[in-house]
Amino acid sequence: MTEGSGSPIIAIDGPAASGKSTVAITLARRLDLQLVDSGSMYRTVAFLAMESRCGSTDEMAVGAIARTVRAEYRAELPGEGQLRVFLGERDVTGEIRSAEATGAVSDVSRIPVVREEMVDLQRSMVSRSGAVVEGRDIGTTVFPDATLKVFLEATAGERARRRYREYREKGIDANISEVARQIRKRDEIDSSRESSPLAIPDGALLIDTTEKTVAQVVEEIAEALEDV
Ligand code: C5P
Repeated sequence: MTEGSGSPIIAIDGPAASGKSTVAITLARRLDLQLVDSGSMYRTVAFLAMESRCGSTDEMAVGAIARTVRAEYRAELPGEGQLRVFLGERDVTGEIRSAEATGAVSDVSRIPVVREEMVDLQRSMVSRSGAVVEGRDIGTTVFPDATLKVFLEATAGERARRRYREYREKGIDANISEVARQIRKRDEIDSSRESSPLAIPDGALLIDTTEKTVAQVVEEIAEALEDV
């Protein structure tokens, strides 16, 4: 890493179940950097929209929810395990990953005011000491001048298998073709929306994670960071 880049911002983008979350968490711990999981913010908006029964496409109501999330979202990365997400004092870590919130998240994420609020939140969370920021539009829109931009990919079959395994490990009943269908639907909406769609950022390091372990991917990113 060159002089002056001692506080790196590492942007990690990619489609659903491409390995972003696990890679980002492992990398943040290894480099002792803050982790900003932007998907968890959109998921919090979706969860609250479902809870208040306002519907995921009611722009006014969902916009008001996004403002609440912007004001009250908090996250903590413990030494082990997953990122804990809070809304004020309320722990919403489990709820934001429910099937209902996952089913609604791509619809709320295409509402422009939701994106504006969440992008502001992401930028305001990144401290001067740098961060690993993961999502869909981090390298293209949120931090286009990031120290390193990474785009993770994996075949559709592998992504469905990973998500299916995750569900089974959590004791959630799942069907692999249904999991594959949900991933395809989310990718389709995320890639075709007008406002900052999922896209490979210019100059990004492309990594196909299909046949790689998390440790290998993290190593590849850490090495690329050395050369920046
Ligand atoms: O990464 P994760 O699966 O948690 O993201 C959930 C959803 O949040 C995505 O499918 C997408 O609709 C939305 N999202 C987004 N922009 C980001 C991160 C996530 O639109 N930067």
